[in-house]
Amino acid sequence: MKHIVILGAGPGGLGAAWRLRELSYDSWELYEGENYAGGLASSHKDEKGFTWDLGGHVQFSHYGTFDKMMDYLLGEDGWIYHERESWVWLLDRFVPYPFQNNIHRLPTEAKWECLQGLIELYKDKQQKKPADFEEWILSTLGKGIGKYFMLPYNFKVWAYKPSIMDYRWLGERVAVADLERVSKNIIFNTDDVSWGPNNRFRFPKFGGTGAIWRALAGKLPAGKIHMEHRVCRIETEKKRIHFENGKSTGYDLLITTIPLDQFIEMSDLKYDSVKDLTYSSTHVIGLGLYGKAPAHLNKKCWMYFPESNCPFYRVTVFSHYSPNNSADISKYWSLMGEVSESPCKAVESEKVVEDTIKGMINTRLIESEDYVYNTWHRRLEYGYPIPCLKRDKVLKALLPDLMKKDIYSRGRFGAWKYEVANQDHAFMQGWECVNYILYDVPELTLWYPDVVNKGHELLGKSWY
Ligand SMILES: Cc1cc2nc3c(=O)[nH]c(=O)nc-3n(C[C@H](O)[C@H](O)[C@H](O)COP(=O)(O)OP(=O)(O)OC[C@H]3O[C@@H](n4cnc5c(N)ncnc54)[C@H](O)[C@@H]3O)c2cc1C
Repeated sequence: MKHIVILGAGPGGLGAAWRLRELSYDSWELYEGENYAGGLASSHKDEKGFTWDLGGHVQFSHYGTFDKMMDYLLGEDGWIYHERESWVWLLDRFVPYPFQNNIHRLPTEAKWECLQGLIELYKDKQQKKPADFEEWILSTLGKGIGKYFMLPYNFKVWAYKPSIMDYRWLGERVAVADLERVSKNIIFNTDDVSWGPNNRFRFPKFGGTGAIWRALAGKLPAGKIHMEHRVCRIETEKKRIHFENGKSTGYDLLITTIPLDQFIEMSDLKYDSVKDLTYSSTHVIGLGLYGKAPAHLNKKCWMYFPESNCPFYRVTVFSHYSPNNSADISKYWSLMGEVSESPCKAVESEKVVEDTIKGMINTRLIESEDYVYNTWHRRLEYGYPIPCLKRDKVLKALLPDLMKKDIYSRGRFGAWKYEVANQDHAFMQGWECVNYILYDVPELTLWYPDVVNKGHELLGKSWY
């Protein structure tokens, strides 16, 4: 039996560990730097008793296997179910998401600019293939929708200009505008929200998203999970891992979910190409608020903010996901904002909470600062893996090369593929990696993102 070492107890590392347990494979250990499981999908209780995710986490499952796992971990009644209601706030109003199908809600001038952009696209039959994400936006959704929503919003969320990003990762994520449908919605003044995957989603009743991963870690053999073991050096020739606490361990096969660029830097390997992998950081700001959520926010799940009157790109009504996210729902509700940061988009960490409160007043989420009962702030150095133009070339060479050295880099930042970087994808990347290592079963999620992201639509969720 070859000894398998797993690095990281986020969904990816835990997915691998779970699969090994399912297959009764005994020779493995998992090492995690923190003293809790869940990684970016963990949740944290603040001093006042509010629970916070590290950014609004929603279960967007593409796999029957993952759904069954969720039922098993928290029980079928361990969840609260929600109808997805997402909105865009701009020009002093809410527009239902997807924005492009609901431009009838805009003031006349903006409505016309958006429609005109789409008409121009329909008239232009000679369109060339877009070179980057910005060109894709303009050639698919038109200049008006680009100007009002897609270009400013995408800069705000990624912290990089869409012109340095690829667009091929998009798959199912953005609704492509249909002139007939958009025109009909304008003429009949109707909201059009029936789009996209998972109109219904579920959220843990207690403990936030992190409850899922704490439950999974708790079901694994305790002696094999080593918390507070932060990797600081990897000798790939000798197949040895060194930890900050002075301990070290050997491996035959390594499954790592540590950010790929950090992994290479800590190792004896030289791959200059990793400098071409780009990421943004994320600030998560939680506000515990006095009273009850105002009626206009009551059913909203999350909202997008493309304009510059607030620092956040997204806000989640987090006490709506579960009343237990509030310290006491009879007295307080909660909002959670996300702010992106990169070398191209600086954020003053000490001011971000204050700026978020001001932004929430500007965008009429709260009336005044007097409603704020408490605040919580966490900065995530690694927030979003950017699908930049050079990414695919780097990964195509690097990941297989590492595999030749018995190193399997998987998960959100291990594999750096945003299109398969949600919890379900990360869990399944770990799970599938074990199938590949032990039985040579091809890994679908990592190498064929479109297949897994579309498979459930074509074949039904039980397909995999
Ligand atoms: C703002 C935000 C919003 C999100 N929203 C959603 C959503 O709505 N739905 C969804 O499904 N997913 C969402 N995600 C993604 C979700 O968090 C990830 O899919 C998931 O956490 C990835 O799991 P992973 O195991 O690949 O990586 P991680 O969760 O990053 O786990 C990696 C683990 O490795 C550990 N580690 C790192 N370095 C070392 C080291 N040197 N030594 C030892 N251990 C180390 C870390 O502590 C961590 O526990 C969101 C993420 C963010 C940041």
